[in-house]
Amino acid sequence: MHVSTSVETCVGCGQCALAVPEVFDQEQSEGTVVLLDPNPPEDLHPAVSQAAINCPVEAISVSKS
Ligand code: SF4
Repeated sequence: MHVSTSVETCVGCGQCALAVPEVFDQEQSEGTVVLLDPNPPEDLHPAVSQAAINCPVEAISVSKS
């Protein structure tokens, strides 16, 4: 799995960082997403996929490779 995020699109809601703190964090001042791990381990794939679905502005993309 490869993860990418769009800081331009992110509205800083924090859902992804709450759901999968191993992969997502938030920038200190704006609260926008910080991608900690673009290639998360397999056990986190379901949570990351769910976080992408739950992002209100579709700022998280996941691909298989
Ligand atoms: S869930 Fe989406 S909008 Fe919210 S902080 Fe994460 S990337 Fe940004």
